[in-house]
Amino acid sequence: MAKRVVDICPEPVRPISPESIPHAPAICLSSVYQCDDPQHARALLLDEQSGYVYARNGHPNGDMLADKCRQLHGAERAAMVATGMGALATLVLAELAAGDHLVISNQLYGVTLDLLASETSRWGIETTVVDTTDLAATEAVLRAETKMLVVETITNPLLRVSDIRQLADLAHAVDASLLVDNSFASPAVCRPLEWGADWVVESLTKIMNGHSDVTLGCVCGSTNRWERIEYVLSRWGLSASPMDCWLALRGLATLALRAPQAGDNARQVAAYLESRPEVAQVHFPGLASHSDHALAQRQFSGQFGSMVTFDLSGGLAAAERFIRAVRSQIPFCPSLGEVSTTLSHPVSTSHRGLSDEALAALGISSGTIRLSVGIESPETILAWLASGLVKVH
Ligand SMILES: *Cc1c(COP(=O)(O)O)cnc(C)c1O
Repeated sequence: MAKRVVDICPEPVRPISPESIPHAPAICLSSVYQCDDPQHARALLLDEQSGYVYARNGHPNGDMLADKCRQLHGAERAAMVATGMGALATLVLAELAAGDHLVISNQLYGVTLDLLASETSRWGIETTVVDTTDLAATEAVLRAETKMLVVETITNPLLRVSDIRQLADLAHAVDASLLVDNSFASPAVCRPLEWGADWVVESLTKIMNGHSDVTLGCVCGSTNRWERIEYVLSRWGLSASPMDCWLALRGLATLALRAPQAGDNARQVAAYLESRPEVAQVHFPGLASHSDHALAQRQFSGQFGSMVTFDLSGGLAAAERFIRAVRSQIPFCPSLGEVSTTLSHPVSTSHRGLSDEALAALGISSGTIRLSVGIESPETILAWLASGLVKVH
């Protein structure tokens, strides 16, 4: 009988020879690893021996990237999760249970608000939404059952800055932990654990990967709370894929160049927009006119991030004209942190579910445009903006 191809060469692909160490990290897509014998398998699965056995529990590309995230945030531990939302969900599942109370910022990313206010209520967790830039109001809603306080370092789209040190003190006074979503800052701008936060979450989908080709999140925290994190990641199946981790490791390699370039550009963009008559207000924590400027100077690395939001005085009609006029230079992409400059229109994307009153209370109008400033030369970006602004009337 004719032999099939698999009969002729049944042995698995040989591993890379131990004498030759690849300089670029290898991609290891394997979902499973071979065990020597039953004893070895048991030791691996019980974590008594280090090594990989099943990719949902860990793989080399995930560990390489998690180690970078851990170091960038000065954390004891870090783990990769399939998405930024997955990272937040991991903390909900690991840390909270029925009967617990959660306090969250009223300016969280909309999908995070859905997760932490609506989804958690199905599990018997009570959530209070508060303006966490008002420390007295925040202190007033924290109580003995409060398990966690959740804020973002820089909020969307008005770029308010959370006072992490003060919020950590308030949370710790009732034995709650402080979780900070740092996605709008990245560790190049802020390292929340150094200011007293207990947990940091990043959506690497945004600034940290920076190339719009991956969805990925990470959780950073401390060793004494880590067992539950690993258990939840594996049991709920939230772990990240090796290919995404490999791509994000490559993206992250240039964060130290991208972040200052984009940050310097954002500063110039904010100053320019502030000088333009078509613009009613510019929101950028690096501007002296921003309500959190002093806090941002204290808490940030000297950079203020790469997001700039501005309100066109002509409202929705002006926003529509501006967006259409710059479409081929500054694409309308409802994400952020990419190497090229993009824009979003909060009222029709991230904040579309909010009532007119809620939008007004937050200070968002239909003329509000959010820029994610890229690493192009500043002259180019200013010229694009100018070409759009002359079209708004
Ligand atoms: C995008 C984003 C998330 C969610 O991240 P995904 O990777 O899209 O799941 C969470 N928080 C903030 C602040 C974000 O901008």
